[in-house]
Amino acid sequence: MNIDPLTVESARTAVLEKQTTATALVDAFYEKIDAEDAAIGAYLTLCRERAYLQAAYVDALADKGDDLPPLAGVPIAIKDVFTTRGVRTTAGSKILANFIAPYDATAVQRLEGAGAIILGKTNCDEFAMGSSNENSGFHPVRNPHDRSRVPGGSSGGSAAVVAAGTAVASIGSDTGGSIRQPAAFCGVVGLKPTYGRVSRYGLIAFASSLDHVGPFGKTVKDVALMLRCMAGRDPLDSTSAEVPVPNYLEHVGRPVTGLKIGVPVEYFGEGLDAQVRAAVEAAIQELAKAGCEIVPISLRHTEYAIPTYYVIATAEASSNLARYDGVRYGVRASDGKTLAEMYRRTRDAGLGTEVKRRIMLGTYALSAGYYDAYYLKAQRVRSLLERDFDQAFANVDAIVTPTTPTPAFKLGEKTDDPLAMYLADIYTVTANLAGIPGVSVPCGKSKEGLPIGVQIFGKYFDEPTVLRVAHVVEHAMADVANPLAASPKVGG
Ligand code: GLN
Repeated sequence: MNIDPLTVESARTAVLEKQTTATALVDAFYEKIDAEDAAIGAYLTLCRERAYLQAAYVDALADKGDDLPPLAGVPIAIKDVFTTRGVRTTAGSKILANFIAPYDATAVQRLEGAGAIILGKTNCDEFAMGSSNENSGFHPVRNPHDRSRVPGGSSGGSAAVVAAGTAVASIGSDTGGSIRQPAAFCGVVGLKPTYGRVSRYGLIAFASSLDHVGPFGKTVKDVALMLRCMAGRDPLDSTSAEVPVPNYLEHVGRPVTGLKIGVPVEYFGEGLDAQVRAAVEAAIQELAKAGCEIVPISLRHTEYAIPTYYVIATAEASSNLARYDGVRYGVRASDGKTLAEMYRRTRDAGLGTEVKRRIMLGTYALSAGYYDAYYLKAQRVRSLLERDFDQAFANVDAIVTPTTPTPAFKLGEKTDDPLAMYLADIYTVTANLAGIPGVSVPCGKSKEGLPIGVQIFGKYFDEPTVLRVAHVVEHAMADVANPLAASPKVGG
């Protein structure tokens, strides 16, 4: 069986209808990973034993002739910031290079409970800090569309495996764009749900008030299916919401006639690449053709989003990362003579440059003399950014923007300039600060053949509308962006 065109739906159907077995699928995926992943670097750890056990379980269900759970037999990958029981979990950091998690993250447990097969853990920027995957403590990931370019970050590995076809779908975390930006760079669909929609239990914390869990897939339907299986209240995460989980798939394919789509002027200004602009404007045209009303809007505090994000994210990170002291988790430097020296040497050897930079920035912003000037101020601006969205959503049903200012950049292009790297997140951090849902969908390719993504924001918990709009774009742009989305079987 050719595994390249498999989607969540078609993989499950193939197992259900006995065109293949889950075990044969796992064989085929590991064969492809063994042959091709070394050139991409997307996987950090493979969990063959766990994958084959789960495949045997799914095959036994199929043999009994039972109806199969929604993700039965679907081979997926997990960003290495989610704990996986008995499987190495590193967060892309040397300080956790030997850490075997004693429990599963809720998202992992729910996906496996729905029949998905976990092939392995994907590479990422260290503690999810980065936009290019070059901050991984192990090795960078290469973009499957052009190996001289980055896949985006921090969930670069999870986007790359879906683009390369070494997993059918995957999950990532998004603190400032880390699902949507790599999805755009790799030409796949990536969804960051509403804050509280998916439990963060077992997600290694970067910035707790900004961290979100979400899926990557080849199609909008695939992310809708993945989200349904992960979402919902979890008593183990007090910030997970007590909001019923809709059947997202039912909304994908519904007409969008009469929907009002806001287009914020601030997202189309200076710094936006001409080809990205053209592709996103073409997607907006398609929405107009499908009967949407296009409404120019303003989100006027957008220019403050990047500094606000980097104050809040680093402040929370400096606190969350204090736990890596060589005592409780992971690697410990052996040559410290005192406790303080052991802490220092462990953190010095175990943490990378970007992580150290952020711990220092965040500690500074939270220190007694500067708290009001930086952290408190940033929290106030965060409220203004939220208000921008509240006001906009009083008049529109969804908002459409580019996902990134440019297509994927070259490896090494921004590594010497952290500020230039931070600016790659300019269109994505706002949704994390406000907690609203956002998806990136492929909408075209640059002249060099690099994928371009369009981003769709929605109201709190209105993932159904976000997915509905995304599906129209995906379908209309399939010829130029993603041929898989055009086939009636997966496109609806
Ligand atoms: N690129 C952003 C950062 O470096 C966002 C990362 C993320 O979403 N995890 O913080």
